[in-house]
Amino acid sequence: MEKILKDNFGRIVNNLRISVTDRCNFRCTYCMPEEGMLWLAKDELLTFEEITRLTKIFSELGVTKIRLTGGEPLMRKDLHLLVQQISCIEKIKDIALTTNGFFLDEQAEQLVHAGVSRFTVSCDSLNPETFETLTRRNYLHKVFEALNVIEQLGIRPIKINTVLIRGINDSEIEDFVELARTKPYIIRFIEFMPIGKDDGWTIDKVVSTKEIIEHINAMGKKLIPLTSNHQPLTTNHVEPAERYKFEDGIGEIGFISSVSEPFCSSCNRVRITSDGKLRTCLFSLIETDLKFLLRGGAGDEEIKEIIINAVLEKEEGHLINQTGFVRPERTMSAIGG
Ligand code: SAM
Ligand code: SF4
Repeated sequence: MEKILKDNFGRIVNNLRISVTDRCNFRCTYCMPEEGMLWLAKDELLTFEEITRLTKIFSELGVTKIRLTGGEPLMRKDLHLLVQQISCIEKIKDIALTTNGFFLDEQAEQLVHAGVSRFTVSCDSLNPETFETLTRRNYLHKVFEALNVIEQLGIRPIKINTVLIRGINDSEIEDFVELARTKPYIIRFIEFMPIGKDDGWTIDKVVSTKEIIEHINAMGKKLIPLTSNHQPLTTNHVEPAERYKFEDGIGEIGFISSVSEPFCSSCNRVRITSDGKLRTCLFSLIETDLKFLLRGGAGDEEIKEIIINAVLEKEEGHLINQTGFVRPERTMSAIGG
């Protein structure tokens, strides 16, 4: 019988997010502290060969979709070579990349040729000063250069991740809506989540999906739903974002309501950190050390059994809104967002 990844709650995992580095050239306030990050030593990172081997093992357990992330994944030298290796794995049907965009203008073409089919670029402000406040870097122009390059390459969809933080960039909802209406972008508003010790998170800083929708309605813009309960109206695959298009626009708006309305009950993903730890939830407090197995000479079948058992214990959901919630110690950058 074919082995698959199924947890105790009946959810089937087919989506793997792989962090390729914990390093980043930005210092987003909600993701990592300005100074004092302790980076992993080079030999602690999984090699491209190790990542490829793990991806193949996961693919034999039903994973078809890969997302490369970090830290900033494009800080890992020659990332396209890893993409090439992964894209040769027969059962992998989709390779996506989440990036801050800084190095994307120069690497996009190479990455597309290697097999990346979808890009998500993070951008939290369209105002250079606010962008700098949030990322602690003056690089908004680089994000737009990256978006232009992938747009010219004809890659679709182009997703933009936007985290709104009350009092910082929540006055920009209308600007982002206008961007999605006039460009072929899917702007995805992700609710600010508590991760790591220095993210500055408090519940009052979270701008909820409900608030954003009310704001858009008040603008007189009619949103047309493209998903219902995290399922696109045209296909049956599940996605974390509830998506909408405009009556009169090119792009889309999506909402990832991780705090106010989590999609845990339909979560189909697990993660591997850049140092080879399997995490079955963004908020996991336990990890399974796959690097130890890889480097200790374990065979593929042995590793498969350990992955199957770890996924079986996948958390029912995160507990952000409940008493007893414990933040993971790792920053978002060290987990792989
Ligand atoms: N460096 C790349 C980037 O920024 O796109 C990839 C890694 S980053 C950790 C992935 C995503 O996580 C980004 O879109 C970022 O906005 C999001 N993120 C980081 N910390 C977050 C937090 N505390 N709450 C919500 N989203 C967060
Ligand atoms: Fe870097 Fe991405 Fe974290 Fe910003 S969100 S600090 S770009 S890893």
